[in-house]
Amino acid sequence: METIGHPKDKSTTLALDTLTARGAEYFEPRTGAVSVPIFQSATFRHPGQGRSTGFDYSRGNNPTRKALEDSLAILEGGKYCLAFATGMGAISALVKIFKPGSHIIVSEDLYGGTYRLFNRYYANYGFTFSFVDTSNFSCIENAVTSNTKALFIETPSNPMMKVTDIERCAEFIHKKNGVLITDNTFCTPYLQNPLAYGSDFVIHSGTKYLEGHNDTLSGFIVHSKEEYEQELRDAQMGEGATLSPFDSWLTLRGIKTLSLRMEKHSANAGIIAHFLREHPKVEKVFYTGFTDHPQYELSRRQTRGDSGMVSFYVNDISLVGQILENVRLVLFAESLGGVESLITYPWQQTHTAIPERMRLNAGVNERLMRLSAGIENPNDIIEDLKQALR
Ligand SMILES: *Cc1c(COP(=O)(O)O)cnc(C)c1O
Repeated sequence: METIGHPKDKSTTLALDTLTARGAEYFEPRTGAVSVPIFQSATFRHPGQGRSTGFDYSRGNNPTRKALEDSLAILEGGKYCLAFATGMGAISALVKIFKPGSHIIVSEDLYGGTYRLFNRYYANYGFTFSFVDTSNFSCIENAVTSNTKALFIETPSNPMMKVTDIERCAEFIHKKNGVLITDNTFCTPYLQNPLAYGSDFVIHSGTKYLEGHNDTLSGFIVHSKEEYEQELRDAQMGEGATLSPFDSWLTLRGIKTLSLRMEKHSANAGIIAHFLREHPKVEKVFYTGFTDHPQYELSRRQTRGDSGMVSFYVNDISLVGQILENVRLVLFAESLGGVESLITYPWQQTHTAIPERMRLNAGVNERLMRLSAGIENPNDIIEDLKQALR
C-alpha cells in the first residue's frame, strides 16, 4: 500500500529548475495536499500480521523524510539517498562501510568538523587518514597505500576554494579498488553532480544551501551502489541520527527555491569577489569565478557555475577584528549557504580543530576571512563591507 504518491515521470529530460521546484513530485493521495505533509508520527499502524505500509517506525523510515530523500536522489542523479540529522551524521554513517585498518585519503583543506570526526574519533578505531592537497593530483598518487579504501574530496574546498578533478580522482581510486566520496555542499546539485563524473558517493550538509534559510540542520548521502544500500540503511537506522519529519519538511521546502537562490548567491558572490579584489586593504581573494583561479578551466568543466562563497586575506591581522566588529548587515556567524550574508573567521571558528601547522600549510592563516554571500541586494552588502573595511 502506498501512503504517498509516485512521480508521474522521473525523466531526466526535465530541466534543473523544474526538478528543484518539484522534486520527486510527491503529493498526499488521500487529501491531494500539494505540500508533502509533516508526518509527525513516531510509529505506524500495521495493516495486519506480517504486513506493512512500508513505514514501521520513524527512525527507520518516515514518509516526509522519504519524499525528501527521493527528491535529492533525483537531483543528484543517484538511485538512493539517505537523510541524517546533520551533515556530520551522514559522514559518520558513511565511514561505517569501511573496516578498521582502512586508509582514507582526504582533502587537507576541508570542513573542520570532518577533520575532527576523522582524526579525533575514527583514528581511535583503527582508521588511518592522509590529508593532502587533492587539487594537486600527484599528492593523491603519493598518498596511496595498499590499504587505501577511499578518497574523500571537498570541491570547491572549504575555505580555500581549491577545485579537485572529480573524474580523474574517480578513475584513479577505482583502479586501486577504492571508492570516491565527494562533499558537494558548496555547489549543491544545482551546480555540480559528482555522481555523473564517477564519484561513488555524494555528501551534503543540507544545513547550508539545500535548506538555505539558516534555520535547520540536515545531512545526506546520495549514491547508486546497490551493494552498499542496505549497509548504509542499517547504519542510518542503527546509529539513529536520522532527520526528523519537521526538519525533512523544512529542507524539502528549501529545495523548492534552490535554483533561484543559487543564481542570486552566485551573482552576489561574483560582485563581492570583484569588489574585494580591488580593495586596498585586501591582499588576495579566493573565488572560483576568477578567470585566473588556478583551476578555472576545470571548474568550468565540472560545474555549471560558482557557489556563493568567497574567501580573502586582509592585509593586516588588525583588520580581522575591525571587520567582525563593524559589519552590520553581514552577520558574524559560522555556517554558510543561507539567505543571510555571513562572515566567519576560519582560524578561530570553523577550522580550529585542524592543527596550526596543517592550517597554515593549507593557506588558512590568521588573516583569512570567509564570506557566504546571501541573497540581499549586492549594493547593500558592498556598502556594509566598505564601512567595515574603512
Ligand atoms: C557544514 C559542513 C559540513 C557539516 O555539516 P553539518 O550539517 O553542520 O553537520 C560538512 N561539510 C561541509 C563542506 C560543510 O560546510
